[in-house]
Amino acid sequence: MNKITNHMPTAELQALDAAHHMHPFTANTALGSKGARIMTQGKGVWLTDSEGNKIIDGMAGLWCVNIGYGRTELGDVAKRQMDELAYYNTFFQTSHVPAIALAAKIAELAPEGMNHVFFAGSGSEANDTNIRLVRRYWDAKGQPEKRIIIARTNGYHGSTIGGGSLGGMSGIHAHGGKIAGVVHIGEPNYWAQGGDMTPEAFGLARAQELEAMILNLGVENVAAFIGEPVQGAGGVIVPPSSYWPEIQRIVDKYGILLIADEVITGFGRTGNWFGSQSFGIKPHIMTIAKGLSSGYQPIGGSIVCDEVAAVIGSDEFNHGYTYSGHPVAAAVALENLRIMQEENIVAHVRDVAHPYLAKKWAGLMEHPMVGDAQLVGLMGSIALTPNKAARAKFSSDVGTVGYRCRERCFANNLIMRHVGDRMIISPPLVITLEEIDVLIERAWVSIDECYVGLKGDGLF
Ligand code: PMP
Repeated sequence: MNKITNHMPTAELQALDAAHHMHPFTANTALGSKGARIMTQGKGVWLTDSEGNKIIDGMAGLWCVNIGYGRTELGDVAKRQMDELAYYNTFFQTSHVPAIALAAKIAELAPEGMNHVFFAGSGSEANDTNIRLVRRYWDAKGQPEKRIIIARTNGYHGSTIGGGSLGGMSGIHAHGGKIAGVVHIGEPNYWAQGGDMTPEAFGLARAQELEAMILNLGVENVAAFIGEPVQGAGGVIVPPSSYWPEIQRIVDKYGILLIADEVITGFGRTGNWFGSQSFGIKPHIMTIAKGLSSGYQPIGGSIVCDEVAAVIGSDEFNHGYTYSGHPVAAAVALENLRIMQEENIVAHVRDVAHPYLAKKWAGLMEHPMVGDAQLVGLMGSIALTPNKAARAKFSSDVGTVGYRCRERCFANNLIMRHVGDRMIISPPLVITLEEIDVLIERAWVSIDECYVGLKGDGLF
């Protein structure tokens, strides 16, 4: 077979892709007939595809390329580290400089009292670690019956069997099942589920489902609660301001562990280093991945508070991955964090990009089909609706309109994702004001083309 390169015709690459490559979260046969869009290069917030189109990436890959594409410093560090020590493990009483330095740097950036890091290869793996961590914690404290983890419907915590079980997505549970000992309460999704309540009353009511669930299960059986500060894959659902304080009150009252899944919200996405800081959450454990290395290397982990780390450390914890703290991934993550700090990227999000985008994003509400616009830091969503005042859903299957809008975005060289009929963004944190203008212009045109198309088909 000839060497497969960027210079091959797109159709040939697509045919090979369809013949051999099984894509995640994809109907592969259908994609095979359509042909995947093939990305070849990235620089800043821009991608180039195999047809030479310049696409603005409103999703930072999968919410991960926080420092933008094409930072060659990370490749330089990776090469140096591979040449020096390509691999060694951190089991059996050994360590190496990249893992030591990265753990220390994360502890410096994390909220006070969170000084310990258990490394994994991804967010899903880190959440699997968390299941074992919280159960082991209660075992070690002499309360082995405390095993149940309470999570939320429409939360996302990964796609391994553990992460997928913590997540509250029925489509994922339907494919392979769900482990025992995880239960779900409702999500704080005001737009879709708030009915006639005020957002504050709804947020409080949803948080109080946690207390009801703890009492129902018996606190002696409950290990932990897990939630994303802002649900990401569920559609960038920003909770009402009453929600997290009430969750915190309940967690404190019953003494269960709180896991904040910061895989998306960590490393600047919300305008602070961690989403927990933006929402006043005090977690015992934070899940991290994605922005930790800006996606340049696969790495994740759990940031663990001092008390939990002390209890876990009192004996052997029978858990770990070959690639826990992989030296190349750790060195690249450290370089990513150096760039984020030296270039004040978190302050750029908080003081520059967010305030500018917030105005423009809210401006999309002037379109007749946009009913809700949410933005925290640089993660945002809009709801497409046939009737704003009623917060109505389309009569077509959920997601049909969102998919059509996503296809218009693609055609206009903008990557926005749809979750049901919500359109979501999470651009690289280094996006400039001019680039925000481009993103918004393309978003408006795409929404409008979708709207005109729906009218033409008699669906609006
Ligand atoms: N938790 C959250 C909040 C996520 O958004 C994701 C990924 N989108 C994960 C966990 C899983 O991470 P990974 O895909 O790296 O396993």
